[in-house]
Amino acid sequence: MIGPQGSGKGTQAQKLSKKFGLPIFSTGNILRQRIHTEDELGKKLSRIINNGILAPDEIVNKIIAEKIENDGYKGYILDGYPRNLAQARFLAGMDELTHVFEINISDKEAFRRITGRRTCPKCQIVYHLDYNPPREEGVCDKCGERLVIRDDDKSETVKRRLRMYYETARPLVEFYNKKKIHHLIDGEQSIEDVGRDILRVLG
Ligand SMILES: [Zn+2]
Repeated sequence: MIGPQGSGKGTQAQKLSKKFGLPIFSTGNILRQRIHTEDELGKKLSRIINNGILAPDEIVNKIIAEKIENDGYKGYILDGYPRNLAQARFLAGMDELTHVFEINISDKEAFRRITGRRTCPKCQIVYHLDYNPPREEGVCDKCGERLVIRDDDKSETVKRRLRMYYETARPLVEFYNKKKIHHLIDGEQSIEDVGRDILRVLG
């Protein structure tokens, strides 16, 4: 799944995972889990991600390759990987993908979706000012904690990430276009309609 932050590709990955019984290898989740171990690599990754900078290719490649080897024998869904041409080439040297879905949304829409997010620091529930507001403004429904804006969701970080995303995604799309496995999906539709378009391609 290729798409900018806020495109809903994670949600679609989860739907496909359920339908086909395949694991999702999401760079974001795997790296976040790794941060919690708080060793040297964890601390380094934490600094990198909190600054809105992407983790180095060699680290990401290594972590994903391990996942594919250990848990990907029946197939798998990749979310957020490969993120650039170098990672795509690394992956192609290891395995061939069957489908690449690019979930497309405008910058304006991505910005609206992401900067409206509010997260509970205690139970990690994510709310949205427009789509899924808490019952009481600024407070978690479940535990009453004050909601925060994650560093990842702050507008300056989002702007930087969107810019970086398009710089690296363009050559990636070209790479998969040549292999004739790239499919462009309109991500500004409802979650159901995006899912329907993907399933149509998969037949
Ligand atoms: Zn909470």
